[in-house]
Amino acid sequence: MSHHSFSIEFFPPKTTEGAEKLRATRKALAVIEPEYFSVTFGAAGSTQAGTRDTVLEIHGEGFTAAPHLSCMGRTRDDLRAILAEYKSRGIRRVVALRGDLPSGFGGSFGELHYASELIEFIRAETGDWFHIEAAAYPEMHPQAKSPQDDLRNFARKVKAGANSAITQYFYNADAYFRFVDDAAAMGVDVPVVAGIMPITNYSQLVRFSDMCGAEIPRWIRLKLASFADDTASIRAFGQEVVAKMCERLVAGGAPGLHFYTLNQAAPTLAIWQQLRRS
Ligand code: FAD
Repeated sequence: MSHHSFSIEFFPPKTTEGAEKLRATRKALAVIEPEYFSVTFGAAGSTQAGTRDTVLEIHGEGFTAAPHLSCMGRTRDDLRAILAEYKSRGIRRVVALRGDLPSGFGGSFGELHYASELIEFIRAETGDWFHIEAAAYPEMHPQAKSPQDDLRNFARKVKAGANSAITQYFYNADAYFRFVDDAAAMGVDVPVVAGIMPITNYSQLVRFSDMCGAEIPRWIRLKLASFADDTASIRAFGQEVVAKMCERLVAGGAPGLHFYTLNQAAPTLAIWQQLRRS
């Protein structure tokens, strides 16, 4: 099997029990030897302090921790202060995003409007201190004008200084391979790590996927729906399908897999174990 890395994504817990559970999750997932743990920012009502505290705790345990940072709704001064704190604490990796508008806002707000501007800003402020990850969309970002336009915007982020990329999750491996080929044809040669969302809950997955523009193929959707509330069958089928896709991705040259864990260890561990046996 070709060489590939793993990385793990968490959201900042909102309660002390959540923080305790995340410690256990982290311990369980350490066996995967992830290159880093990343922590989302500002998504689903989480706070800026939540991201920082979680990142610093992970860093303090001796792991590489990468905060996500989004520019939506923030001033340059806010962003400068956040970057300065991370730098002073020895954090060397960030996932740089635009973020999403809370529903009800018409236009964009904040001083920077696109992730490419945020990446430029990070480079201007902190030089080469941070390894910067940008987001990529094999099935197109839902607000993009066209796949070509979205690809050009992705290339802009790399030109602005992104070192590598993580994709939105997908269940069509061909969309990923096509995206990587198209990017390479444009001369974009940074590693594009595949974002992987384990399947554990049907209604939640449908809700997420509608929002972020990820397609759940018909055959997967129908099969999951047929299990109704039989969670064990959903999990078993989801694990099988996602692990098989991971095998294909890795065999096809994906440089890494980034797991959207939703702070749960078991689904990611099960996929990783199946991948190891293959
Ligand atoms: P951009 O790259 O700025 O793109 C946004 C849209 O604008 C695209 O349609 C693009 O084609 C278009 N565009 C870009 N540049 C231009 C331009 N110059 N002119 C015209 N159009 C342009 N959200 C959070 O809130 N917190 C998180 O922690 C978080 N983590 C994420 C992690 C990953 C790996 C991924 C894939 C997504 C994450 N998101 C997170 C979601 C992300 O914020 C949304 O998908 C958001 O809508 C777009 O962010 P982006 O960085 O890709 O934006």
